[in-house]
Parts: sequence; C-alpha cells; structure tokens
Amino acid sequence: MPHVHAPGATPRRPRRVVVTGGAGFLGSHLCTALVGHRVEVVALDDFSTGTPANVAHLLDDPCFRLVRCDVTDFVHVPGPVDLVLHFASPASPADYLRIPVQTLKVGSLGTWHALGLAKDKGARFVLASTSEVYGDPQVHPQPEHYWGHVNPIGPRGVYDEGKRFGEALATAYREHEGVDTGIVRIFNTYGPRMRPHDGRAIPTFIRQALRGEPLTVAGDGSQTRSVCFVDDLVAGILAFAATTHPGPVNLGNPDEMTVRRIAEDVVRATGSSSVIETVELPVDDPRMRRPDTTLAERLLGWRPRVTWREGLARTVEWCRQDLAASADGEGA
Ligand code: NAD
Repeated sequence: MPHVHAPGATPRRPRRVVVTGGAGFLGSHLCTALVGHRVEVVALDDFSTGTPANVAHLLDDPCFRLVRCDVTDFVHVPGPVDLVLHFASPASPADYLRIPVQTLKVGSLGTWHALGLAKDKGARFVLASTSEVYGDPQVHPQPEHYWGHVNPIGPRGVYDEGKRFGEALATAYREHEGVDTGIVRIFNTYGPRMRPHDGRAIPTFIRQALRGEPLTVAGDGSQTRSVCFVDDLVAGILAFAATTHPGPVNLGNPDEMTVRRIAEDVVRATGSSSVIETVELPVDDPRMRRPDTTLAERLLGWRPRVTWREGLARTVEWCRQDLAASADGEGA
C-alpha cells in the first residue's frame, strides 16, 4: 500500500478490492497500484467511457480480474471483499452531456448497488465524488464544509447532482446501515490514459498541439483550474481508503493556473508551433477552482509531489505514443 497514511492510525491493508469503473482513466491507475502491492482486484466496467486496453497490462496477473458489468443493473461479486472503490461514472463533460440519463443512473442506482455490495461483504466503501459538487463556487479556495453553488437544471446538473445524491446516499448508508463509507472529492486530475478526444482541457490541448492544430481555449482563458497528476491522486485515494474516515476530503493540487497558461505550457512542452484560439465558454463553466487541502494534509499526511512541469512532460510523452499507435492502427 502507499507510503502515506493517517498519522497515528494503523493503515489497513485490503486483501480483495472491487474497483467499479476499473477500466477508466483513474480506475485503471488504481488497479495498477493495488495489483503492484499484490492486492487482489476485481474491476467492474461496462466500457462506456473506458476500455480494456487501459488494463491490458494487468490481464495476465493472477491478482487481477476484469468483469464486464453495468453497475446500474446490478453488482454481484462472489467471495470476500474488504474494499469497494466506486469510480464508475462518466467524468468528462463531453461524455456526460452525451449520456445524461445514464450519468444520473450511475450516480444514483450505480452507487446504490455498489453500496449494497459493500454492505453485504462488510467492506469499506469509497465514493469518487468531485469538485463539481461545489459547482461554480462562491467560496475560494473550496473547503469541504462549503455546500456549493450548483445549477440542478443546467446541462452539468446531471453529473453534479448525481454526485451530490451519491454523497447523500453514502452518508445515509454510514449512519443507518452501518457501512464504513468514505467520500473523496476529486479535483481535476490528468495523466497518461486520458483519451485524446475525451473533451477535457489537457488531453484536448495536447492532441491539438501534437497535430499542429490551434489550441481551443474557452472564453478568454482567465478561468482557473488546479490540476493534479494521477500518481499523486492515487496515493491520496489509497491512503484515505486505508482509514475509516467518512470524509468528505478534498484531493487535488492546490496550485492554481489559468486555462490560458495551461494551453501555453502545453505548446511549450510539446515543442509545437500551434497558435491559441478562443471558443465560446460552455454554459455554467466554473470561473475558478482550487481545493483547500488542509484536511487531506492533516488526516493523511498527503500532499501532491509531482510538479506540473514533470506531470505534463509524462502526459505529453504518453499522448505522443498513443497518437502514433492509433495512426499506425488507422494505416494498417
Ligand atoms: P473515465 O470515464 O475514464 O472512467 C469511468 C469508468 O467508469 C469508465 O471505464 C466507464 O466505462 C465506467 N463506467 C461508466 N458507467 C458505468 C456503469 N454504468 N457500469 C460500469 N462501469 C461504468 O473517468 P475518470 O476520469 O477515470 O473518472 C473516474 C471517477 O472519478 C468518476 O466517478 C469521476 O466522476 C471521478 N472524478 C474524476 C475526476 C478527474 O479529474 N478525472 C475528477 C473528479 C471526479
């Protein structure tokens, strides 16, 4: 298990973990880290936004099993389970705007089924919630006790409210059903295995830069984001999972940057000659985002370690190889 853990507490080492959404971006990194620690993992995924290719490197490992399953239908896993990491859900706006009803179903029914599994097995349950529960925040940076500023009937409501419902459900299961639930509020995370077409700013900018196309910055680009490299996030999630804390706990990198600066850095890191263009700002796009990570530091001794420069270089390298491989595939 990771080197970070709750100061003063004995971290619990799970033996058998279910990761819903295990073939997605974050899920696949969690599976990789757990299997690396020789923990048995059952990954459940319907491959709606993820792909078995993300966990292809684990398929021959006896510690790993990948099962095709839509968690909105049912969740059944034979045998003991001592941790459920519930990560199934579209996460990119491009995805959840394309499948809004399915997004609400996975946030509600999917979370309900995953909680049912944790209850049956007596397992710890960790919900992948999101900074989107803060909506377009009026408090900055966002601490966990801020209730948020969300438009339930705006286009992003399907994701934000699905996650808010999931938090309420996890809390009810903790208080009334005796399940050891915990909530992590994840802020924008980036790294290898993000799909180049998933619509999120960093993979989009990298794809555009590598192809010599203009980088499309929304609005005037002065809106801010705080982006965390995936390895840091995974360490934080596993450290939190090893506690019995209910959360919610913010996990993210508090270094705040404008979206324009992110685009400029991508141009530099790729050595591209692309120009930066502006496009219309999406509806309800948050103006600013920065986690208050005081609780994560105090509770888990956790803080991000990977610099933006290093994380960006590693992501660019992966995207370069991925684009080259898909170009080969197209040509074959
Ligand atoms: P992703 O789209 O790459 O992964 C989601 C995975 O869930 C995919 O493999 C998808 O196929 C699977 N899935 C979706 N619906 C399913 C269903 N009904 N049954 C089974 N599997 C299903 O997204 P991600 O970036 O890896 O996000 C993972 C989780 O983390 C999500 O819950 C997301 O809300 C949360 N999160 C991510 C970020 C981020 O920056 N990446 C930020 C905040 C929260």
